[in-house]
Amino acid sequence: MTTPLLKPSLYEAGGPGATGSASLKGGRCLACGYVFFPLQRYGCEQCGAHGDALAPATLAGTGTLLARATVHMHARPERTAPFVIGTVRLDDGPVVRTLLDASPTAPPSCGTRMRAMLVEVPGTEPAVLVRDLRFAAIDAGPAGASARGGLA
Ligand SMILES: [Zn+2]
Repeated sequence: MTTPLLKPSLYEAGGPGATGSASLKGGRCLACGYVFFPLQRYGCEQCGAHGDALAPATLAGTGTLLARATVHMHARPERTAPFVIGTVRLDDGPVVRTLLDASPTAPPSCGTRMRAMLVEVPGTEPAVLVRDLRFAAIDAGPAGASARGGLA
């Protein structure tokens, strides 16, 4: 049995690179070509087209790290600190803020090539694992469960 996804409306398994890669469920404006994430139907942020002009688009989960920060304290007790958040510019265009699969004491440098991965983290039910999205440096191994910032 495959471990369920925590947020299946936002990402899915598969994509370029190693096993465990993920792609993102974004959208494309058929009127102007603008690519966005996540998929929404309210209107294109660039030209205002809406409705059928906004089509689903699968975005490759690869990009470049623009910024990152290690969080040492978090307001939600179920989010175990420390963990690393980052801002990634996807190769398809959108910029996303995301959890990184990275060591809090040695996070990747800005400019590092990143890839979306699905990692197993504790779910909301006791002893149930789910797969959630993390971005990891390409060509870097998993940093380990303790660095993933999953729900505890
Ligand atoms: Zn548009």
